[in-house]
Amino acid sequence: MSDYVITQPAVPSVAVSHSSARFPIRRVFCVGRNYAAHAREMGKDPDREPPFFFTKPADAVIPASGTVPYPSATNDLHHEIELVVALGGGGANVDPGNALDLVWGYGVGIDLTRRDMQAVAKDMGRPWDMAKGFDASAPCTPLVPASTLGHPAGNAIWLDVNGARKQEGTLDELIWTIPEIIAALSRLVTLAPGDLIYTGTPAGVGQIRPGDTVSGGVDGVATFTLVFGPQPA
Ligand code: MN
Repeated sequence: MSDYVITQPAVPSVAVSHSSARFPIRRVFCVGRNYAAHAREMGKDPDREPPFFFTKPADAVIPASGTVPYPSATNDLHHEIELVVALGGGGANVDPGNALDLVWGYGVGIDLTRRDMQAVAKDMGRPWDMAKGFDASAPCTPLVPASTLGHPAGNAIWLDVNGARKQEGTLDELIWTIPEIIAALSRLVTLAPGDLIYTGTPAGVGQIRPGDTVSGGVDGVATFTLVFGPQPA
């Protein structure tokens, strides 16, 4: 019983740890340059200018496991390991003091980036969408509910490529804390249950080649290992 003129697209979702239930995804927001050392490696001054955001499509989220497709149209795919915040509540103009009340849980994801395409976009003043929001660009672990996990703070965050440590940091290096990110984002858009926020990456971003094995995690939250498929024809 539907008035839709085509078959209704599936609701994107992400797994929940130790459960057969799933978390439905409404929107995916990402924070840019939220660790000082990463801002410096990207040639920027890590001051406390307001955080900036970009988005990925909800169906860019895929399980951070098994074989992940290597994207088309890049010769410089980059990894960005990030803590992922999943919202179970929403609102506009959220007070930072109440922001953690909106958090349903946490996961660990990779903000995959066509760095070569992003560099062209920056040079040309073009949007980042195709550099950041391509298919399967947001692998994510199963989410862990905050009701059992609490709210991580100070945990180590790390990523290895083929067993070699590439990214390493701690959550207390975040320039903008999780409550500050939620509050700032809620002044730009009205947040709602199902929204995910990729909270930025520590230093050490770098290249992933077809066939690479990538492992990562946030200690106490989740870890993952996945393998990238072949370069598309
Ligand atoms: Mn990122």
